[in-house]
Parts: sequence; structure tokens; C-alpha cells
Amino acid sequence: MMDGPYSEVAQQLSRHGIQLTPQRLAIAKLLFACPQHLSADQVLQGVQSSDASLSKATVYNTLRLFVEKKLLREVIVDPSRVFYDSNMAPHHHLYDTVTGELTDICASSIRVSGLPALPPGVVAEGIDIVVRTRPEGAVSLCYPQV
Ligand SMILES: [Zn+2]
Repeated sequence: MMDGPYSEVAQQLSRHGIQLTPQRLAIAKLLFACPQHLSADQVLQGVQSSDASLSKATVYNTLRLFVEKKLLREVIVDPSRVFYDSNMAPHHHLYDTVTGELTDICASSIRVSGLPALPPGVVAEGIDIVVRTRPEGAVSLCYPQV
């Protein structure tokens, strides 16, 4: 049905139960070109460079849909900084509080022990760890010095 460079991405969306639209395909093509962390504004700028008619609302709604359908992972570093991560493999993150850069950490490099007892009838779905860093001596704008 779908040919050309979009076909693989189109199949990926279909497999996750997402109805295909040209806008969703354009956003998916940008996001899934490689494993990356992008803010909603970066996605918006990226897709608008090829199609200026794509609205901010469409981009935000599509990102929310992709997260709901587990095609995309939302990494909330703080309420004002949300990244969309196209790498769905289990992993954690290093976050540089000075540069704002987010980097992947292999899931096996962190071990979590002493999890609290979960409420009855509840299972842990996942653990997301963000290790916040800054260069030695640098002042973080976001967090008090430790
Ligand atoms: Zn990541």
C-alpha cells in the first residue's frame, strides 16, 4: 500500500494501531531516523522545515499519541524540559544541567535495590533514572550545589 522511503515507518505506525496521515508520517520519519532525544519544539522545527503547514497542535497531539501507543518514550527531566526518546530499549539517562544535554546510559550499568513495597494489586512497570550532572566547578542553573 505505502511505497517509498516512508514504507518502513508507515508499517511501524500501523503495527502500533496508529492511523496513517501525512503529518504523522512526517513526524515519525523525523523521530525514527535514529535513536535520539528531541524536545517538542525541536520536532516542530524539524517537520516545519519540510512542511510549514504542520501546526504546533498537530505535533504535540502526535507526540502524545506516539507515547500512548508506546512508540516513543517521554523523558521528563523537569516540568519545563520534556524529551521524546525514540530509543524504546530499556535504558537510563545522564542529564547535563548546564548544557541541557541528555545522554543514554545502558540499563545494565545501574542496579536498583531496596524498592519499596508496592500497593496490593500493583506491579512495577519500569524504573526511569536520570543522573543529573554538571562539570566540576560549574554552577548549575537548575539545582542547588551539592
Ligand atoms: Zn534515551
